Amino acid sequence: MIFRRRRRPAPLSCQELVELVTDYLEGALDEQTRARFEAHLADCDGCSEYIEQMRETIRLVGRLGKGDLPPQARAKFMTAFEDWKTEQG
Ligand SMILES: [Zn+2]
Repeated sequence: MIFRRRRRPAPLSCQELVELVTDYLEGALDEQTRARFEAHLADCDGCSEYIEQMRETIRLVGRLGKGDLPPQARAKFMTAFEDWKTEQG
């Protein structure tokens, strides 16, 4: 086994998770942060659902190709993102 399970990583807060979500989906997080990210996901249904929505959005956006996202779609997405953050406090 590569991973030693000495202790569970301290999970991120919901807000920290939201701030790191793009890095997570791009595989840009370091190993420790990703472990904390996933520890939070395991315990938080809201964030698990959010990640699934983000993945779906990226799939849809990915089909359009880079730079092809219409401005109004981008604005709609950013608004949804801000609403979610506000609801979570
Ligand atoms: Zn959460």
